Amino acid sequence: MIRKMTKWMLAYLYLGVVGDRNSESNQQIFVSNLFSCIGYSLTLVLGISAAFGGEMVLSISLFSACFLFFLSHQIHRFKRIKNTYKISTRIIFICLLFLMLYLVYTGGHANTGPLWIYILPPVAFFFGGLRKGLVNIGLFVILISIMLFYPGEVLLNTSYTHEFKSRLIYSFLTVTLLFGFYEFSRQKFITFMQKLSDQFERQAMQDPLTLLPNRRAMKDYLEHEYNRAQRSKVNMSLLLCDIDHFKKVNDLHGHDGGDYVLQNLSALFTSTLRKQDKISRWGGEEFLFLLPETSESDAHFLAEKIRKKVANHIFKYAGKEFSVTLSIGVKEVTKNISVDKAITAADKFLYQAKEEGRNRTMPKVVHAHAD
Ligand code: GH3
Ligand code: MG
Ligand code: MG
Repeated sequence: MIRKMTKWMLAYLYLGVVGDRNSESNQQIFVSNLFSCIGYSLTLVLGISAAFGGEMVLSISLFSACFLFFLSHQIHRFKRIKNTYKISTRIIFICLLFLMLYLVYTGGHANTGPLWIYILPPVAFFFGGLRKGLVNIGLFVILISIMLFYPGEVLLNTSYTHEFKSRLIYSFLTVTLLFGFYEFSRQKFITFMQKLSDQFERQAMQDPLTLLPNRRAMKDYLEHEYNRAQRSKVNMSLLLCDIDHFKKVNDLHGHDGGDYVLQNLSALFTSTLRKQDKISRWGGEEFLFLLPETSESDAHFLAEKIRKKVANHIFKYAGKEFSVTLSIGVKEVTKNISVDKAITAADKFLYQAKEEGRNRTMPKVVHAHAD
């Protein structure tokens, strides 16, 4: 029984929530559902009691508020309406605003009604953010100031002392200021965390030395492109490149010299390949290129273009001039082969290129392109 009740209550409070429950909009939906639940239960009870007490205007106002609170919850059921949380939070805020104005106007029970207005600032900032919250609260302050200080209290259905009215406004402004400052810090903190998380995400996908996408990022590209190729039925190709005798580069020019070569080679790859091609640092001195919508012979042509360009490039480091060569394995990713198998095949061809003397592309393909 209790379990059923809890389940029902949670379903009620989470109505309209989709995806991550902790996202800002979902938290707003949750709180607006909570407000609507309390709001319409309270206004329903008070409305019935006002009706029995013969206060028809009050009873009708309370029933109308009750209906609006109910609507702010039920609106989430209409799947066709977009951003229902914006509508429901607005309905709730407007209901609250009118309820507060009404309490100030009548004085409520024993003239204690105005004490409820302090719930407005946190609600206004939570639902509307800093700017909108300040505008809404500003409007409310103007309205109650006019009601309270209009000569002869003609806009009030009760009477307050002058001291009470001025202290009410002062204390309300103080509470607004404090909540406004809290909201400001909260928003600043959220922006900071967002930036930090974006930075971490970028770093997790990027090789810090060459600034190229790393193996992890490439795996995402591969999966994405593989699915696209399957749909479009146009094959993609892979090039696996390895620098020849890179250990010697390190031995002759130091580790920093090796790093310099890796960085410059990366820049050379980026300037040689097409915009749609993806280049990644796959391992130490190994690079994997993903060439979308490219046949094996076109990929071979591109591989040769890169290989020759690199072989002819002169690196200048610490007053010395030298060049490096590449061995490249090419593999077209056809329909009946997985990405992993294609990478293994490209690796085999790369090994063959090394075996046959390095500075070459494998497999050998006779292609239609002229150099
Ligand atoms: P092969 O032609 O057979 O590929 O010979 P190789 O010397 O290039 O290959 P091997 O696998 O024997 O050595 C690769 C070297 O690459 C060893 C390693 O220290 C170096 N290396 C890997 N990552 C980096 C790096 O980030 N910076 C530098 N400077 N060197 C690196
Ligand atoms: Mg090597
Ligand atoms: Mg290697």
